[in-house]
Amino acid sequence: MEHIVIIGNGIAGITAARHIRKASDCRITVISGESDYFFSRTALMYVYMGHMKWDHLKPYEDWFWEKNRIELINAWVDHIDFKNKELGFSSRETLRYDKLILATGSLPNRFGWPGEDLDGVQGMVTKQDLEKLEERTSGIHHAVVIGGGLIGVELAEMLHTRKIPVTLLVRENGFWSSVLPPQDAKMISEHILAHGIDLRHETELEEVLGDEQGRVRAIRTTSGEEIPCEFVGLCAGVRPNIKFLESLDIETHKGILVNEFLETSVPDVYAIGDCAQQKKAIGLRKPVEAVWYTGRIMGETVAQTVTGTRTSYQPGNWFNSAKFFDIEYQTYGWVFNKPGLNEQHFHWQHESGEKAITIAFDTETGKFKGINTFGIRMRQKVFDRWLNEEKTITHVLSNLKAANFDPEFYERHEAEIFKYFTKNLQNT
Ligand SMILES: Cc1cc2nc3c(=O)[nH]c(=O)nc-3n(C[C@H](O)[C@H](O)[C@H](O)COP(=O)(O)OP(=O)(O)OC[C@H]3O[C@@H](n4cnc5c(N)ncnc54)[C@H](O)[C@@H]3O)c2cc1C
Repeated sequence: MEHIVIIGNGIAGITAARHIRKASDCRITVISGESDYFFSRTALMYVYMGHMKWDHLKPYEDWFWEKNRIELINAWVDHIDFKNKELGFSSRETLRYDKLILATGSLPNRFGWPGEDLDGVQGMVTKQDLEKLEERTSGIHHAVVIGGGLIGVELAEMLHTRKIPVTLLVRENGFWSSVLPPQDAKMISEHILAHGIDLRHETELEEVLGDEQGRVRAIRTTSGEEIPCEFVGLCAGVRPNIKFLESLDIETHKGILVNEFLETSVPDVYAIGDCAQQKKAIGLRKPVEAVWYTGRIMGETVAQTVTGTRTSYQPGNWFNSAKFFDIEYQTYGWVFNKPGLNEQHFHWQHESGEKAITIAFDTETGKFKGINTFGIRMRQKVFDRWLNEEKTITHVLSNLKAANFDPEFYERHEAEIFKYFTKNLQNT
């Protein structure tokens, strides 16, 4: 019987396993050194905040895997012999495969900061990070979080709910301004500050300072300021977890290079999820996309290919969502931090400072390119259709109500938004 082995029990690896089982009777083994069972990484924060227990993060009951004949191994793979199709574990045991799917996820970025290995300095990606965080933040008086991105703001919120004062260092002049247009970034920065987080823009980490026991006692910024703290969260982005493949004969760059079928340079070896890098970018999408739903789509896609229906990866229109303290963010299509050639951004913000819309459109054709919404929940299906049908900004604005989950909000603000946008449109 054919044996398909998957390294990684995250959303990508587990989706692949489930879909392979649906399509085939082969033997399936899923390996992870992190946890016995698949869990929702995106909900890790809620365990620390006391909203959920660890067991609530498991989308499937523990019996599900045996019932579906998906063998689980909790161990680290530290070597792969591609020629003989054999994996080596850190325990020195080995396992043979016929087809191998690499779904090894991400690691937090580290930039070789002096002191980054001190006790009390860590990222926030894994189950083990959560456990360490729990131990290290009990009874502390101040924490510093490095990085103005999605994980940085989550960690700041987590610490804040435990009443730990937080300084958040952001290199840019607005929160997540490598992604968000300036007005959106400014609104989120103001929201974070309003929550009592000591958010410092244009401030970079120079060094983490330790005490005699090797524990963090402060950080120093590049401008020479020392900020006392007993915990430092490193959240300056993530990178594909491919270190253990570095000396092996498989093509890698930032991640494991794959073609449109998610096939690597080694026969019968595939890569999916955060660890995969598209050799040829798909449209405007980044070659490495560390987001949950693309991992799921890649898992579904590769399952078709390894069970005999070679299928190309089609992620569709870009969308994403996140939460910045109380403000929910959604994005559909492309709204870059700066408008491109022949492109314009319209920004409408509610006086509360907690609701906003930014729309990108083509100034020549009026074609709608994408939307960011803050504090207003939109329907993905509707925007997906409008993007596919290449609707104009006027169509989108006249029909925004159809895309909105909160009709009451629209009753109150639709006219104002439309008037504001049309006034600005006429001025261009
Ligand atoms: C705190 C946090 C919040 C997030 N929030 C969001 C969000 O709101 N929305 C969103 O879209 N995305 C979010 N993400 C990103 C999202 O969680 C990831 O894109 C997704 O989980 C990646 O799934 P994956 O299956 O590729 O890898 P992972 O979930 O990382 O799974 C990979 C697994 O492989 C294991 N592994 C790696 N190497 C080996 C080895 N050599 N041997 C054995 N096992 C190995 C790892 O230990 C890990 O368990 C968040 C991420 C974090 C950390």
